[in-house]
Amino acid sequence: MKVTFSSTQSDKRDAVVVTSLSSAKLRNAAVALDTKTGGALTRAVRATGFKGNAGQNISISGPANEDAKHVVIAGLGKSAELDGKKLQANGKSLTAIFNQNGVKKVDVELDSVRGTKAADMAAEMALGATLESYSFDKYKTGAKKKDERVLNFVVDDPAAAEKAFEKLSATAKGVFLTKDLSNEPPNVLYPESFADRVVDEFKGSNVTVRVLDEAEMEKLGMGALLGVGQGSERPSRLVVMEYNGAPDTASDDEKRPVAFVGKGITFDTGGISLKSGGGRTMKYDMCGAAAVVGAMKTLSERGAGSNVVGVIALAENMPSGSAQRPDDVVTSMSGKTVEIVNTDAEGRLVLIDALTYVQQKHDPKVVVDLATLTGAIISALGSEHAGLFTNSDSLSDKLLEAGTKTDEKLWRMPVGGAYADGLKSNIADLMHMGGKAGSSSAASFLEKFIDDGREWAHLDIAGTAFSSEATGYGVRLLDQFVAENYETQKAKPKRTAQSSLKK
Ligand SMILES: [Zn+2]
Repeated sequence: MKVTFSSTQSDKRDAVVVTSLSSAKLRNAAVALDTKTGGALTRAVRATGFKGNAGQNISISGPANEDAKHVVIAGLGKSAELDGKKLQANGKSLTAIFNQNGVKKVDVELDSVRGTKAADMAAEMALGATLESYSFDKYKTGAKKKDERVLNFVVDDPAAAEKAFEKLSATAKGVFLTKDLSNEPPNVLYPESFADRVVDEFKGSNVTVRVLDEAEMEKLGMGALLGVGQGSERPSRLVVMEYNGAPDTASDDEKRPVAFVGKGITFDTGGISLKSGGGRTMKYDMCGAAAVVGAMKTLSERGAGSNVVGVIALAENMPSGSAQRPDDVVTSMSGKTVEIVNTDAEGRLVLIDALTYVQQKHDPKVVVDLATLTGAIISALGSEHAGLFTNSDSLSDKLLEAGTKTDEKLWRMPVGGAYADGLKSNIADLMHMGGKAGSSSAASFLEKFIDDGREWAHLDIAGTAFSSEATGYGVRLLDQFVAENYETQKAKPKRTAQSSLKK
């Protein structure tokens, strides 16, 4: 789907979208079209009881005196409540118009609403439509036909709309990258090829990428991460992405980076503790890593005014003669020894070495890790919320807020205290699992590897990262989290993308 902005209507448009505020208050373009079509719009409003509520759309087919085969009235709701999130949802709903017979070209005629310029509205709606238009069809040999869909926004200042959309499209680029990485099959995307993709993606950009191979990780003592991948023919990798967007004028504390850490198990068989279900969908066990890469992409594309480091721990969990056993003891980079209980609880093992690495090498002011960590979080929260585990109330507030604003929602769960009691081992410093509350005990294990006084949060995204395909969960959340809390004032102006557009 192509998005365009213009000040005039397209020739030979198949459908036209006009807008209405609540109480079915038709906007100027809608009034003009109503007059042109001999009152087709007001008749449709009356006949359907259309109220113009946000997200409520009605369609009129074959209107008189109008070349477009379909007219859609899109409800924007109350002008005082109009924000980026609602407009994006609106844009997303517009893509359904292309499902109607023969619709290739759609005009969206927008009028400014009190406090919100038509150009900004168009940009937000264009982002929503773009995000919705994603598809992953590179392996469908018959699906290579050209996408001829054009969504054209008719506004008074198309140049301003174009500019605003370019800024917002950093979000779409990050989300698409995360989805692309997540959707790749595990015979194509494995630790080495994943690392190569990240290197290629950021080549020539403002993100520097460093890839650690197994020899380097061994030197650093990453026995926990390496143990997970030792049963696979595919060697493990640790990838470090650095983006330094804080201005020179920022204080030393402002320059300390925000760190994101992602679990990247490119395929999880469970290892010797083999999964019973056949392993389908276990290619998605790298969605945490994919979200971190996508967030780095978005931050760098929009030129975020802060320093951010992303670390992803990549391994394939396979059973073989060289695979890790339950009862093994490994030594992590922190120096702590860990007794292995079940080799299917591998995510926390790769994460602890990545967490230690980023704390030792980058001294971040805050660390947020993302992982499809436990099935238990799906039982608790389904796909509505990801689980949030943190040692900091203020960090919790920031993340919950970013989740609400981006609709990538979080729910805070308990960590530490008695939830860590099950992690005692008879022969090592720790066991890596134990206790009835699977998600909280996993988080409590991770917390054992966080330095005293370091702000840390763990997001268990096992229920939100994918359904039938990857959702891209986490990119917008992390971007919003940085934008709202960690950008230095003298940097580029704060974006209005996912918050309100109003000043
Ligand atoms: Zn597993």
